[in-house]
Amino acid sequence: MSRIVMKFGGTSVAGIPEIENAAKKVAAEVARGNQVAVVVSAMAGVTNQLVEYCRSINPEHDAREYDAVVSSGENVTAGLMALALQKIGIPARSWQGWQIPLVTDEVHGKARIGFIEAQELEHALMSGDVGVIAGFQGKTARNRISTLGRGGSDTSAVAVAAALKADRCDIYTDVNGVYTTDPRIVPEARKLDKISYEEMLEMASLGAKVLMSRSVEMAMKMKVPVQVLSTFEDAIGSDHPGTLVTKEDEILEQKAVNGVAFSRNEAKVTILDVPDIPGIAAKVFGPLADANINIDMIVQNIASNGKNTDMTFTVPKPELAKVLDVLGKISDLKNAGIVTDDKVSKVSVVGIGMQSHAGVAQTMFKALAEKGINIQVISTSEIKISVLIDEAYTELAIRALHTAYNLDK
Ligand code: ADP
Ligand code: ASP
Ligand code: MG
Repeated sequence: MSRIVMKFGGTSVAGIPEIENAAKKVAAEVARGNQVAVVVSAMAGVTNQLVEYCRSINPEHDAREYDAVVSSGENVTAGLMALALQKIGIPARSWQGWQIPLVTDEVHGKARIGFIEAQELEHALMSGDVGVIAGFQGKTARNRISTLGRGGSDTSAVAVAAALKADRCDIYTDVNGVYTTDPRIVPEARKLDKISYEEMLEMASLGAKVLMSRSVEMAMKMKVPVQVLSTFEDAIGSDHPGTLVTKEDEILEQKAVNGVAFSRNEAKVTILDVPDIPGIAAKVFGPLADANINIDMIVQNIASNGKNTDMTFTVPKPELAKVLDVLGKISDLKNAGIVTDDKVSKVSVVGIGMQSHAGVAQTMFKALAEKGINIQVISTSEIKISVLIDEAYTELAIRALHTAYNLDK
């Protein structure tokens, strides 16, 4: 007997037939003698609609009420999934985040999970019930409803798997695994049988939305084996049909690059004529951090006149207005010009093997140059190289890189 968490994303629970299809997969795992907890997303499109409702009342909405609204989509699917399971003879009940409870910090809209008190849930599983958990949501210490950020049901699932010490967390979605790049953009993309936590974390952080990056971070830290697999194919998780996200040493072949990721969610901010003095970076990035804005790529050059320089960085596109607001209040920048560009995208190549292969960056620059694509900003880490380019060339760049690193099937 294994203990398994099965997570179903939005398209996997898009309507009643899909929920009933997912319930059959749960029943198949139960029939093999497994204890199962299910984590569900809202029906496809529902969260977007709820977000839009909030925006239409007030774009500057109270984040606590936003969470009260947008968390509700998952409540519906959790109840419906419990009903669908009961209908086919599987004892089941729904659990909203606060009922478990799953307790988060107070950063509404993108809260982090603090802890899960899983005893009651665990007793329910041991007594033979399937626990159906509303993903994406929790409660704060002040008893307010919180949400974990878009795509957060993945994180709920991994966190529940860690709390229940589950043998595996199966993420059921609309593709049958993790690919070398988004298979909807590059038909030549190849499915990976296994990917290391480190590479998956980079891929997810750099835009591959198949898993939310925080879910991978948590899986790596808590050593939860995660499998990504299709809801719409016959095999169930115990057949191991998908992609296993696991420890690096379990993966034999180490190519220099294993994947290409992209994000259209970035905006570029350039501050012109910043005084080139000690402490200026802290003065710019401190207030942005206090406003909970994640800064990504940063470039600052030397001051050719010995006094002033330009500083460029990228931020999440939806936060651009907030960024300008914060920068406007920094007194040291009152004479600086600020230029923004939200027609950019970030394309990245990821691979643990990069650490031991030479010329990886050169392959990237050459492939982009051959397509006439200009690189605006470059950033690197041990296992990734990212470039910021004009948004119009995103797909061209992804395809060129996929071919250049021999990833095409
Ligand atoms: P769910 O609603 O089940 O959470 P998502 O839409 O969040 O599903 O994630 C699945 C999608 O991720 C796929 O439809 C695919 O287009 C996209 N995707 C992006 N990059 C990759 C990748 N490298 N491998 C697989 N899918 C990817
Ligand atoms: N329903 C939420 C969203 O659309 C959470 C999730 O699906 O993972 O972002
Ligand atoms: Mg998702």
